[in-house]
Amino acid sequence: VATLRLDRLLANLGYGSRREVQQLVDAGAVTLDGDEVDDPGMRVALSRDLPERMQVDGEPLDPPPGLVLMMNKPLGVTCSHKEAGPLVYGLLPPRWRRRDPALSTVGRLDKDTSGLLLMTDDGALLHRIISPRNHVPKRYRVALDRPLRGDEAETFASGALMLDGEDKPLLPATLEVLSPTSALVTVTEGRYHQVRRMFAAVGNHVVALHRDLVGELSLPEDLAPGEYRILNEADIARIL
Ligand code: URA
Repeated sequence: VATLRLDRLLANLGYGSRREVQQLVDAGAVTLDGDEVDDPGMRVALSRDLPERMQVDGEPLDPPPGLVLMMNKPLGVTCSHKEAGPLVYGLLPPRWRRRDPALSTVGRLDKDTSGLLLMTDDGALLHRIISPRNHVPKRYRVALDRPLRGDEAETFASGALMLDGEDKPLLPATLEVLSPTSALVTVTEGRYHQVRRMFAAVGNHVVALHRDLVGELSLPEDLAPGEYRILNEADIARIL
């Protein structure tokens, strides 16, 4: 486990500048295992359980770097740091937006797609999850405008489906029919508007899209839209 100076850690977590963090320490606001910390230069191990041991102003420390969380993304919020309108980052505690390294979404869900969205500050992990080479399945529940024709599963599985404006066919994807106008689709890539464009390519139109599974990690029933949960090692292992 990596270690970091306490003042650097707190500054990186958005608690303030190095100087402001020193003042917090001087004021006795930071405790470790119940004891006031008096050396802002002390080195702390960045273990996932640090928030259980360290408090700032009586509150558990924010999660240290290496944070992975899942959100039940609501409709109408955008996976972006910059665009106008409500952003997924606005659903997190305000201090988390000042973190360095910053949190980013693992791939994106469209503004009008809901469901399981992962966020992390671990760039290497992010790339492992989104890289098509790693074949991490992402499953979507799809509601359609028109009844399925019957040949879609075969077309999606072929590895030959070409999306409009692209020059490389999609990797094979699976379709499980739930009803004439609903299905589960599992893909291992994350191309722009991929699932919507896959159905456009077979003459249909997606009217609702919800992701419920990434790897073997499913969206918990009790995680309401807009809520998030910090993942532990076991959860993270289920993604990859
Ligand atoms: N495919 C889409 O078309 N949109 C998403 O948000 C995710 C997958």
